[in-house]
Parts: sequence; C-alpha cells; structure tokens
Amino acid sequence: MTLDKHWYTEIYPADGAAFSLKVKEKLHDVQTPYQRIEVYETEGFGTLMTIDGLVMVTDRDNFIYHEMMSHPVLFTHADPKNVLIIGGGDCGTLREVLKHPGVVQAQQVDIDEGVTRAAELYFPELVDANSDPRAELYFDDGIKWVADAAPGSYDVIIVDSTDPVGPAEGLFSEAFFRSCHSALRAGGLIVQQSESPLFHQKIINDMHSAMQRAGFGGTRTLNFPQCSYPSGWWSATLSRRVTPEGSEQGTALTEFRERDAAGKLFKTRYYNAAIHRAALTLPEFMVR
Ligand code: SAM
Repeated sequence: MTLDKHWYTEIYPADGAAFSLKVKEKLHDVQTPYQRIEVYETEGFGTLMTIDGLVMVTDRDNFIYHEMMSHPVLFTHADPKNVLIIGGGDCGTLREVLKHPGVVQAQQVDIDEGVTRAAELYFPELVDANSDPRAELYFDDGIKWVADAAPGSYDVIIVDSTDPVGPAEGLFSEAFFRSCHSALRAGGLIVQQSESPLFHQKIINDMHSAMQRAGFGGTRTLNFPQCSYPSGWWSATLSRRVTPEGSEQGTALTEFRERDAAGKLFKTRYYNAAIHRAALTLPEFMVR
C-alpha cells in the first residue's frame, strides 16, 4: 500500500495492478496484536477501513459484499436458526444475517476486537444491529472456536475472513473445514469469501477440494461485483455438510427458497432472487 498525500493505493503485485481512492484525511491508525487497522475519509467512497494495508470495507460498496455473504446461504438453507460468523469484525454481515426473522442466534467470532471497535467509531450503520438480543460477539480465533464447538451446534457457518495470509491462513485449510463439518448439524451449510474469480482461481479451486475432502458436497461458487476489492470481481463459495454415507447430498446448491427470497420482507440494495440465481451462473473458464 502506498499513500501519497491525496491517494490511498492498494497494489496487487502478483497481477501488476492497483486500486486507488482519493483521500481527504486519515481518521484512525492502530496496531493491534494481530493486524494494523486504518480508517480514512475518502472523496468518493465515504469512509474506508483497511487491515494491513488492504481494503476491508468502504461506505460506498460494502452492501454488495455483506448481502452476498449472507442472503444466498440463508435462503438456500431450509430453516436457518443458529448462525456462526467467523471474522466479520466490521459487523456488516451480522447485520444482514439478523434481518432473517427465523434466525434465533447469531454468534460472531473475530480474532481482533480492534476491528469491531473501529467499526463502532467510524461505521455506525454497520454496527446498528449489534444490540439485537440474538447477536453474540466474541473475540477469539475462529479456528479454535470451531474446533472446540460441540457437534451439531450450527445450521450455517459464514466465514467472512481476510485473505488467506496471517491469522486467516488457517481458515482456508481442510482441518478447519473438518471442524466446521462437525460443528454443523444435519442439512448444515458453509459459505466462505473466496477471493477474485479473475485473480485467485487457484484459491477457489483449492477451497473446493479442501471442502470436499472435509466432507462437504454440492460446492458452488457465487460471483458478484465488488469495486474496492482486487479486480472488482469477488466470490463466495457455498457447500453442504454431507454425511459419510452421502445421505445428505440433498438438492444441489443451485436450488434455494426462491419464493421466500422473492417475497422477503426486509430491504436490500443488491440481493434479490434473480441476483441470487444469476450469482450461481458461472463464466465458461470457471465452469471448466
Ligand atoms: N470483507 C473483507 C474481505 O473480504 O477481505 C473481510 C472483512 S472482515 C474485516 C475480515 C476479518 O477476519 C477481520 O476482522 C479479521 O480480524 C478476521 N480474522 C482473520 N483471521 C481470523 C481468525 N483466524 N479468526 C477469526 N477472525 C479472523
């Protein structure tokens, strides 16, 4: 990341590309035991939070990511009640999960309390559901949390993590997915942010294989725009917990509660049933 007087720039060395936002001023800069958290006021994207120099959220486009990390998986599950969010410290995903009236408990486990404290200061709209009695916020390593979770604790696990480096690296491993498999109950689903279809094909392929080796099936990658992330094109990978005898193969993950999604009573700005269907449609290079 380089920051000349007026521009915040995130550089993607492997792709010889970069993304810049014109900055008015820096509002926050904290080194926590885990990562460096900075917040800027920008000219065109509202408030920007970065972690270790990488864009995490901006006021202008975070709604796309947070809606696509939560509504597709929740409308794919038959009746999600207990949801676990790993990461998600800015609380935008938690806010979307709590819009589903059937959800009775949403536990969020982020390793770094500093992210949530920064969100409370600079992203008030993202934390406005934190006082919901169904919300439980914990600050712990998500890898340890799911390894220690009682079997069958959750209907849905959402992994809203940083990139597979540093504290988040283990969140992309087969061992982690095995723990998630055990922590999910029958019919359980997992969705994980799976980086850019254009820049990170290998990460997506490796995630599919690791999830399948860990006992998941029906793995599907959803894709959607996300202007402030590398390449402007992002993804989330959905998978279903299946039992060893494969009895829970269930419907392929292209089927979802389309009528419920179309008739949803809560507001969204990006997600709707047609977008959900479209997000499951893959470009030819991803189909192969
Ligand atoms: N939307 C962002 C993206 O796609 O890069 C991610 C949002 S959220 C800010 C990512 C969160 O993952 C951070 O708050 C970070 O603290 C958290 N995180 C990283 N490793 C973790 C771990 N092992 N357990 C729990 N949370 C973790």
